[in-house]
Amino acid sequence: MDMKEYIDEAEASLLHTYNRYQIVFDKGEGVYLYDIEGKKYLDFVSGIAVFALGYGNKEYNDALKDQIDKLIHTSNYYYNVPAIEAAKKLKKISGMDRVFFTNSGAEAIEGAVKTARKYAYLKDGTTDHEIIAMNHSFHGRTMGALSVTGNSHYREAFEPMIGNIRFADFNDFDSVLANVNKKTCAILFETVQGEGGIHPVKEDFIKKIRALCDERDILLILDEIQCGMGRTGYMYACQKYGVKPDILTSAKALGCGVPVGAFMMTEKVGQNSLKAGDHGTTYGGNPLACAAICKVIELYEKENVLENVKQVGAYLEKRLDELAAKYSSLIVERRGMGLIQGLEFKEPVADIINAAIARGLVLINAGSNIIRFLPPLIIKNEQVDDMIDILSQCLDKS
Ligand SMILES: *Cc1c(COP(=O)(O)O)cnc(C)c1O
Repeated sequence: MDMKEYIDEAEASLLHTYNRYQIVFDKGEGVYLYDIEGKKYLDFVSGIAVFALGYGNKEYNDALKDQIDKLIHTSNYYYNVPAIEAAKKLKKISGMDRVFFTNSGAEAIEGAVKTARKYAYLKDGTTDHEIIAMNHSFHGRTMGALSVTGNSHYREAFEPMIGNIRFADFNDFDSVLANVNKKTCAILFETVQGEGGIHPVKEDFIKKIRALCDERDILLILDEIQCGMGRTGYMYACQKYGVKPDILTSAKALGCGVPVGAFMMTEKVGQNSLKAGDHGTTYGGNPLACAAICKVIELYEKENVLENVKQVGAYLEKRLDELAAKYSSLIVERRGMGLIQGLEFKEPVADIINAAIARGLVLINAGSNIIRFLPPLIIKNEQVDDMIDILSQCLDKS
């Protein structure tokens, strides 16, 4: 079948919850993807910040193949070695003390919300605690995660949400403070807002929130599902500011393609929240997913991924700044940290993205007017140059 026929089949069978780009991908190699007709694409999306190590990393693939032959799944009623090792490694890179493995980012958020509610419940025995989340945030599509997502467009048809959520303005401390009261049990935000348009947290804001949380025994929950796992040049973006959350969520690049997430917490929260019987998952933390995590963290160290992100991230910033200056009639500004960058345009970017795809460059939007840049973390300066060349051609035409 050719690409068109596959796409017709897909549209006849898959639920239409995505307006998909007209490509059927077949395989990947390094930072390149190939469609089923053999066309090559430079990938600046990584499956939305997932495939950090690039495609076809032999050590990663071999580790998964070995684990498949050994044991794919047991149950969380028993221990397994990959989960024990993955938890230990994750504690080390995150600075957190307790780990719960999930299958996705949204489930990590669900767990974080349950943890915060239970922590507050154990303190005063009441159940009307509130969580403060941010406008323009994104935390996932399950009902709990949707309830803390600050975008009414995603929520409207699915009301009522879980109760007692307040929304404040991101990076506006006074707006958060105005929503704090005796019932506040947690403040939740992304260290770099992803879907909301690539807005990094301001240092002053995150530090003031940390101090506020300490003062009032409110839990700080940071969602680093998109910006975590090295994408900002730090294993977790909050480490740039020396701020430690009480609960941290991770997913996307955590397993580099194997579906897995985690919510992690400090020992204090771990000892005073979820207990046996309070939470569970059939698949979460299974040996295959955890073998992926172990190998990913090992390869980050071995391949100096953070150093590469710092170096190429700075170069990408420079090249995007030049582009924004050159096309100032089209582009409002660049925002981002390391290899999570966004260019905000004055107009919708859908046509630009389609033009880039036609020229063999995969890009994705974040909201209608923003192009997001989420390349594999092993990308090199030359490939940034290639991306800029293609994107410039598309802008010249628009
Ligand atoms: C993608 C994302 C989620 C949801 O993760 P899923 O694995 O799609 O459920 C939550 N928070 C942030 C910041 C994300 O980018």
